[in-house]
Amino acid sequence: MDLLLKDKVVLVTGGSKGIGQGIVRSFLAEGTRVANVNRSPEEGRALEAEFAASGQECVFIQADLSDVTTCQRAVEQTIAKFGRLDVLVNNAGVNDGVGLTAGPDAFLGSLQRNLLHVYAMAHYSLPELKKSRGSIINIGSKVSVTGQGGTSGYAAAKGAINGLTREWALDLAEHHIRVNTVIPAEVWTPLYENWLNTMPDPAGKRREIEAMIPFEQRFTTCAEIADAVVFLASERSSHTTGQIIFVDGGYTHFDRKYSLGSK
Ligand code: NAP
Repeated sequence: MDLLLKDKVVLVTGGSKGIGQGIVRSFLAEGTRVANVNRSPEEGRALEAEFAASGQECVFIQADLSDVTTCQRAVEQTIAKFGRLDVLVNNAGVNDGVGLTAGPDAFLGSLQRNLLHVYAMAHYSLPELKKSRGSIINIGSKVSVTGQGGTSGYAAAKGAINGLTREWALDLAEHHIRVNTVIPAEVWTPLYENWLNTMPDPAGKRREIEAMIPFEQRFTTCAEIADAVVFLASERSSHTTGQIIFVDGGYTHFDRKYSLGSK
């Protein structure tokens, strides 16, 4: 299926690592041009060089998105470079464990890391998305509907992203801009692997987590999240908007009896 994405311009936040890097790679495989807006420079520059070698554009824009003026600058730099914007992917975020005991200042900090830039990037991208009749895809989290404990800021931010998906889909329908959210649950990333390796029995812990994932008892891959994002961004999803799509092997919704083997 031709997704008709060739030469479109895609801005991905947090595109240097993990799920974001998977998203960048999937879009580039469809012939798009990408602006990767990320805080740390190493992987972003390496990705830019890797794709430049094959004649593809994966421009790295260094920015800490917790500052909204930086968000504005990142959008401006993207437009200055490519002259247009077709797709905004709000991927950057961190489950930073700011719980109820952490206090209001810490809570606000977590919202700055996980929510404010989602709004700011959409706000600053809007004029160009209106021109291109583009699309916004947010990366949410199962925590938005399940809770996790000890992570009020992240849960609030991801819950708000679900709400904004519906709100913006309505707001922007008249401009022919679609808005959707993809929700991961347990995705195998280098960060996840590093975390598991801090456990006394990493392999045992991995099996324990995988046992809770009904479909194939395995982690979701970054590519599986990315391919859902790319499809939603494409004109092949031309009547899909305001949707919150769980790409999680059934983790969030299936009866626990299923994964515990007593169905
Ligand atoms: P990751 O491996 O930590 O990668 C996140 C990327 O985003 C990093 O490159 C990071 O940059 C960048 N980033 C984070 N905050 C930023 C900021 N303020 N400014 C600029 N760049 C920033 O994370 P991931 O696991 O791929 O997660 C991606 C998204 O999926 C997040 O929204 C997360 O909440 C969601 N998610 C992930 C899982 C999972 O199982 N992995 C599950 C549910 C939801 P640095 O290189 O500077 O750190």
